[in-house]
Parts: sequence; structure tokens; C-alpha cells
Amino acid sequence: MAEPLRLKATSASPGIASGPAFVAEPVEPAATIPSSVSGQVELASAIETAILELQELATGTDPDGGDIVEFQIEVLRDPTLTEATGARIEAGENVAFAWVGTLDGYIRELECSEGDQLRARAVDLLDIKNRVLSVLTGTPVNDFPAGSIYVGKDMEPSRFLAHDWSAGGGIVLYAGSAVGHVALLARSRSVPMVIGAGRVATARGQYIGVDGDAGLVILEAARWNATSVEHCAPSTGTAPPLDNGIVYTSDGTQVLLSVNVNAPEEIDAIPAEVTAGIGLMRSEFALMSLGDAANEEKQFAIYRHLLDWADGRPVTIRMLDVGGDKPLPGITEASSLRGIRLLLARPQIARVQARALLRAAVFGNLRIMLPMVTFPSEVDAMRQICREEAGELHRRGVPHRTPPIGMMVEVPAAALMLDEFEGADFFSFGTNDLAQYLVASAREEAGFSLDQEQAVPAVLRLLTQAVRLTGGRPVSICGDMAGDPVRMSGLLAAGIRHFSVAPARLGAIRSALVGLNADGTKAAGD
Ligand code: PEP
Ligand code: MG
Repeated sequence: MAEPLRLKATSASPGIASGPAFVAEPVEPAATIPSSVSGQVELASAIETAILELQELATGTDPDGGDIVEFQIEVLRDPTLTEATGARIEAGENVAFAWVGTLDGYIRELECSEGDQLRARAVDLLDIKNRVLSVLTGTPVNDFPAGSIYVGKDMEPSRFLAHDWSAGGGIVLYAGSAVGHVALLARSRSVPMVIGAGRVATARGQYIGVDGDAGLVILEAARWNATSVEHCAPSTGTAPPLDNGIVYTSDGTQVLLSVNVNAPEEIDAIPAEVTAGIGLMRSEFALMSLGDAANEEKQFAIYRHLLDWADGRPVTIRMLDVGGDKPLPGITEASSLRGIRLLLARPQIARVQARALLRAAVFGNLRIMLPMVTFPSEVDAMRQICREEAGELHRRGVPHRTPPIGMMVEVPAAALMLDEFEGADFFSFGTNDLAQYLVASAREEAGFSLDQEQAVPAVLRLLTQAVRLTGGRPVSICGDMAGDPVRMSGLLAAGIRHFSVAPARLGAIRSALVGLNADGTKAAGD
């Protein structure tokens, strides 16, 4: 029998998989923000759908429930609501945020009113707000068949996250980078992935294989040795000890090991006792649409879930790092802005998230982390937003707490000036972006992995200097460099004592650390 054709590619996530190819069309640019006219039409139709849903609900409910639903329908038909929202849309707000802003105004008034009955109505309005919001933003994600091998030029993180990987499958990208966003998601979910495969000559439905260990694409994989094509079950090696993520170097220095979390369900399979907590939660991978970004209740539930899991350990939630190469569908007018710059340019997004975080902070050891910070004024501006939202929550009598607010150090200008960031309570090095901006290289491009490799000495020198500027405030690293055992020596020597890594990397990093001294030298006899 003829051997299957093997194409050399580059490994981006280990493991082996095979299945029918799903050859993707090129990723379409994100939809533009609807104009004020289409925004108003969209709103009217969303309200109509919500009314229909409520009418259906009313038919099967008892008289009390029916009264509540009747009241909600009446409110939805009130033209003052659509007029107030329409005015916000006219002023340039996105329809989802215009709706949320209008309803929040009424909810706050009701919450602060004298009578018990009026105050109780606030919950009904909250229900209406979320019902219309979910209609407005329930954009279906373009999924592909479970168990297939995705083949394409690129892949959107939202597509990865919406897909059911439990039936296996893998990813083959024509170009791409091992530190791209989908690659890091693939590693955290143990989905085999290769990049740099070039235009693979396959068609939809044809059997192909992905060898993420050797960095190969196998064409006509039906003829490939069946034993080697089974999907690899997620493996984290031997179970890590329940040491709360506290590890000691060979000469007795304490080092902390936390985990990076992308989608909230990732933590469900890990006992919190093997970690020192969550060092980075990329909230943009849990909130994949403008609707999620506008949905305070959904966010609050996600953050609480993480805090419950952590059981008192620190949970560092990074505010939405969207824009640039992490687009949030619906926001395209500010595509050059990313991270905190975009949040400050669109404060209505930041305000919803700040409220959800402040409310969740009551339930555990939450810490807010700001993405892509460049200047101290950005931290101060976000602190001010948090202060204002805390004031608002206080006025409404909603339980909340202002947690520590720290920042990612992933822009070289910030790394050089850390002593100027008086408003930051803690720092975490994001070496993926830091390396990208240090060597003027695009993170999602095929050549970036090599550039990043060559950038290591410069990154380490920058980190060494930056650690000295932190003035004793907590400092950690959450970029991919922290999950590479080969880098432990240089990172320890730079003074780093807290590593946050993908859960699957915990074992390898723990083993590397115990064989080293705190200055990064090899332990005697190792
Ligand atoms: C980084 O840049 O190193 C980082 C951790 O952030 P992200 O990978 O999400 O950009
Ligand atoms: Mg980053």
C-alpha cells in the first residue's frame, strides 16, 4: 500500500488527530458597527422578539407570574424606552450599549426609590434588559463539524471557543504563529495543531491527519497507520502535588505557580490545590461578543465561578484585551487601538466590566489586571472609572469591593518606566507581546517564532531591569515564556518568583524549578 503523503509544518500544539478536512473560507473582516438607522431597526425587532417570547411564557404560567410578564411587556411597549435608546444610538453608541445604558438608568432610579414595591420592579427591568440584550447579540458563530480537521489560512478565537472539541479534531493553518491566540487556546485544550503548512492540497471531507508532536500534516490519512491517528486525550503528565502552587528551588527559595485561564470551563478539570491561584484570566476569550461585553450579569457569573473555584486564592482577571489582532466583532472603528486604549476610548465597555468585577470581588480574592498599558495616566484613568462605578454601586446599595488593580507589562515603554506607575498595585510580564514589540515583528506571522527566539536575550535584559523598578510590589510573569522549562534559568536570574502558566505546563515547570538555584544556576548534582 502506498505511504500517505507527509508535509512538513511547524508544531503549535502537541498531539495527534485525524478526520475529514474542513477547508475554511478566508476569515471575513468583522461586521461594521450598524449605522444609527439600522441600529434603531435592530432594536425594534429585538424588542418585538422579546415580547413574543414573553407572551409565550405568559400562556403557561400562574396568575402571579402572568402579572409580572404583563408588566414587562407593557414596559417594552413604552415608547419612552425606545426614544431614549434611539437618542443614544443617534449620538453614536452601539445599539447594545445604548439599550444597556438606557435600562441601567431606569434600574438605578427604581433601586434608589423609597417604596418596596418600586424597588422590587428593578429586577423586572433587569430581566427585560438581559432578554432584549440576548436577542440583540445572539449572533450564531460559524461552526464546523465536530471531529474534523480545520484547514485554513487563519482561525478566529471565537470559532475555536464555540467548537466542541470533545469529539477530537485538530487544526492546520497555512501560516500562523505558535504564539498566536488560537495556538495558545489549542495548547490549553490539548487540541493538536500545526502552523506554517502552506496551502495544503486537500478538499472538504477528505481524510487528513495532524501530527502536532512532529509538526506534520498527513494527506490521505485514511491509509495512515490507524494506531497513530487517534485523537490524544488531554494529558497533563503525572498529577501535580497538592502544594498550593508553592515550589522551592534547590537552594530553598519559594516560587509560586499559578495558572492562566482562557475560557472559564478550563479550570473545572484542575484542582485549585495544585495552584497558587489564577495569574491571568483572559476575559476576552470568555466574552466573545459586544453583547457579552455589555452583559454585566453574565460577566459577574463567570467571575464568581472562578472565585468559587479558587477558594480564597488570588484570581487575576484581565480586563478585555480586545482590538488590533484580537478583534471584538462590532468594534471596527478603532481597530488600531488595543487593550486599555480601546477600553478608555469606549468607556461604556470598561464601565460594565468594572461593575461586574467590583461586585464579584466581594466573593473572593479578586485582582483586576489592565491589558497593554503604555503610560501611567492609563492606569489612573481606569482607577477613576472604577472609583466612579464603586460610587454608583454604593448609591444603589449593591454589595461591592474595590480590589487591587495591577497591570500587564507587555509594552516596552512601560517595562522601562515601571517606577513611574504609582497607580499599579502589581505587575505581570506579558512576554508574548513584549517580544513582539521589542523585535518589531508581527505575532500572528509565521516568522515570529524565530524572531521571538532571537529576542530572548533582549527580553531577559529588559525584565531584569524592570523587576528592579517595581519598588517591592508583587510581580509575576504570564507570557508563554513562563511555560517553557528552558527559560526558567534566565527568568529566575532576572528575579522572577511567580510564574503563571497553562495548566498543562505546571508539571514541566515545577520539575525545572526544583533543579535550579534561585540565581538560575543548575543545582549541584542535577
Ligand atoms: C502576553 O502578551 O504575553 C500575554 C500574556 O497576553 P496575551 O498572550 O493574551 O496577549
Ligand atoms: Mg499580551
